[in-house]
Amino acid sequence: MRQVFILFLFVSLCAAAAAQKIRYEVSFPNVAHHEASIALIASGIPKTAAVFRMSRSSPGRYATHEFGKNVYDVKAFDKEGVPIAINRTEGDVYEVPKHEGWVRVVYTLYGNYADGTYAGIDPQSIHLNMPASFMWMKGMDAAPIEIKFNAPAGNAGKIATQLKPTTDPTEFTAPGLQYFMDSPTKIGDLILKEWDVKNGDGKTFHFRIAFDIAEGKDKVDPFTEKVKRLVEEEKAVFGEFPQYDYGTYTFLASINPYVHGDGMEHRNSTMISFGGQFDGGDELLDIFAHEFFHNWNVERIRPKTLEPFNFEKSNMSNELWLAEGFTQYYGNLLVERAGLSTSASLIANFTGMINSRLNTPGATGYTPIDASRQAVFTDAGVSVDRTNYPNIFTSYYYYGAATALALDMELRSRFNKSLDNFMQALWKRFGKTEVPYTVATVQEELGRLTTPAFAQEFFTRYIYGHEPVDYTDLFAKFGYVVKRRGIRAWLGNNRLIATPKGMQVGSNTIRNTPLYNAGIDVDDIIEKIDGKEISKEDALSNLLELHKPGDVVEVQFSHRGVSKTAPMRLMQDPANLIVSFEEEGIGVTPAVKKLRDEWLGSKL
Ligand SMILES: [Zn+2]
Repeated sequence: MRQVFILFLFVSLCAAAAAQKIRYEVSFPNVAHHEASIALIASGIPKTAAVFRMSRSSPGRYATHEFGKNVYDVKAFDKEGVPIAINRTEGDVYEVPKHEGWVRVVYTLYGNYADGTYAGIDPQSIHLNMPASFMWMKGMDAAPIEIKFNAPAGNAGKIATQLKPTTDPTEFTAPGLQYFMDSPTKIGDLILKEWDVKNGDGKTFHFRIAFDIAEGKDKVDPFTEKVKRLVEEEKAVFGEFPQYDYGTYTFLASINPYVHGDGMEHRNSTMISFGGQFDGGDELLDIFAHEFFHNWNVERIRPKTLEPFNFEKSNMSNELWLAEGFTQYYGNLLVERAGLSTSASLIANFTGMINSRLNTPGATGYTPIDASRQAVFTDAGVSVDRTNYPNIFTSYYYYGAATALALDMELRSRFNKSLDNFMQALWKRFGKTEVPYTVATVQEELGRLTTPAFAQEFFTRYIYGHEPVDYTDLFAKFGYVVKRRGIRAWLGNNRLIATPKGMQVGSNTIRNTPLYNAGIDVDDIIEKIDGKEISKEDALSNLLELHKPGDVVEVQFSHRGVSKTAPMRLMQDPANLIVSFEEEGIGVTPAVKKLRDEWLGSKL
């Protein structure tokens, strides 16, 4: 009886769901002024009050964004085209109290900021990130979506997106809201470069780069060859491609002065924007490598904290050190493995990682989990008031990359394994199955690859903790020396601005640096050191030359117009450099050479 009842209920729910549908129709009657006209047609919906809203967050972007601010002239109509009441109940929420199960909501969208998050609408180039562009109806997340794009007159009308194509080249579909919101779309005079790659399981996947470029069209082919090589090198880390929905992966690449620099990962595509000229694109390889790596790491090896994505608020995650940080590490490493960078630039990247891990208060005083949680404020978050981020936050990109670097070197030198093996293990357990992970289950996998005791120790010290990492010892195993960059006296890394009264501190002073310890804060003006006037960069530099780390100088500074003096103990610049044994004149043994080559060499 119970079973029969459940079956009956299931059938009737399916019947109701089958009739529900969301359809968008997009046109551009006022494209010269960056406007789009968007119609949302909700059909088969319950005849209760229908609530429509704009998102406040966007997949892969972790701070809140008020997308509702660029939506106006919102109207609603019934099936016969008769206007019906629509009430604005919050800044970005609209309610249709009465209807017959069918509503057409029409609004104007303004978009003039093309990047990985927002909308950019221009006659020749329509650039749409879905959360910034499309209102959605609450409670209809599972309803199938259709979308029709009517390109403006004069626009070449080529469309690139990960949405599912139909027989009409201007119409696409999505299985539901989550996929739709994850599917940025570009319309314009796109140059498409396409190729196929065979997967390990015999399936063939289709890859394409849709270039929206102003100049440098002759450089598109050689650049595409480099991306092809990167794609193969990335596949080699995991052993296979993900099963791309609809068989295709798309790089949406906007490279022109009219976009803002960004890179945003999606399930079967990425939105990359670079606001410069296209000059061969070598500076873009890191970002292509990074975003493509995400189609395994974060799109499918996915933290539980991001599932399902909530479009109404920011989505706090404990795991961005892994989702973004490990991806950052691989983005740099894979360009090197693909033979597309010089090892000097890779070592420069590693240097940045270890300096941010060892010398920023956000990483010496807080854990990578703390850093990840901070993303809800820092990831393109905008604030009017000042913050103390320089003392409490280190980017989870660099913090996580520095952690990946340490783990890779530990695995290679102690366990005859590698971070590639770890990523493969995560892929098999969490990626292929699409079972979201937690920090605890990731630790479990590291324990399986090494020993539970090692995983416990590593996570306690470096993931749940923030103990210093001994990079000197780790790098020595691969034939590199880590040493201090400077021996001269140092007072901190603050930006100092020359003013007639002295050097003004342009940013928050940093904990445990001479300036901070002397009580000097942002906006204060350093007037004199040891009684000598300091009004130019040279004067300060010359004065520091006369001292060594540990010396105590008298500093006179003005705070809100009041002059004060304080003793200031100078320090040695804590920044590190990484130098190869070869450059230091140290012999490299075959065993060290082998470890290094296995780490940095191609896997193809
Ligand atoms: Zn990323």
